[in-house]
Amino acid sequence: KFIALEGGEGAGKSTQARLLAEALTRRGIACVVTREPGGTPGAEAIRALLLGLDGDGWHPRAEALLFAAARSDHVDRLIRPALAAGTWVICDRFVDSSRAYQGGAGGLSDTDIQDLHRIGSDGLLPDLTLLFEVAPEAAQRRLAARDSGGADRIGGRDAAYHANVAAAFARFAEAEPRRFARIDANGAPTEVHGQVLCALAPLLDP
Ligand code: C5P
Repeated sequence: KFIALEGGEGAGKSTQARLLAEALTRRGIACVVTREPGGTPGAEAIRALLLGLDGDGWHPRAEALLFAAARSDHVDRLIRPALAAGTWVICDRFVDSSRAYQGGAGGLSDTDIQDLHRIGSDGLLPDLTLLFEVAPEAAQRRLAARDSGGADRIGGRDAAYHANVAAAFARFAEAEPRRFARIDANGAPTEVHGQVLCALAPLLDP
């Protein structure tokens, strides 16, 4: 199975990816945790390009192409082979991040982003997309507590941009309720993890 974790920065996705992998391993399910942008050497090199540009950053169109290229390498070299071997893939961000960031907030059309995804990755979609939704103030607090100083973030984006990202994610979840599970990510990690396991139940005991 292919599980994606989505949401804005500071929503706790990486912590939840780790807790989910531990829970699956305890159940004897082989799984791999990976992330976007990144996951393979080529895609990590593109991540460095995406995150390393100062000033105005990339134009949303170029940004979308770079994300699609990184995802293509990641899908062909890691995700599809793992799924073919029966290993579950837990991916921190996937195509819905491109749709929300470069589309909803960056202004590109959803059709263009989905076209890039079709060309780059044959339109692969997760079996389940967990959407972590958190109040903006809580996200800010979590980001401030991280000691990376924002080195793992694309900067130069204001609150309105992030509000557009959150609104776009919510629209996608409403449009595809079977693929998405909305998770209230404001609580403590163990409480949020409980919601994740509930959302996963249909995949664990079909
Ligand atoms: O998930 P993570 O916080 O590591 O993402 C790294 C950076 O890339 C963040 O600033 C995130 O907002 C950004 N990003 C983006 N568009 C995507 C995926 C991630 O702008 N499609």
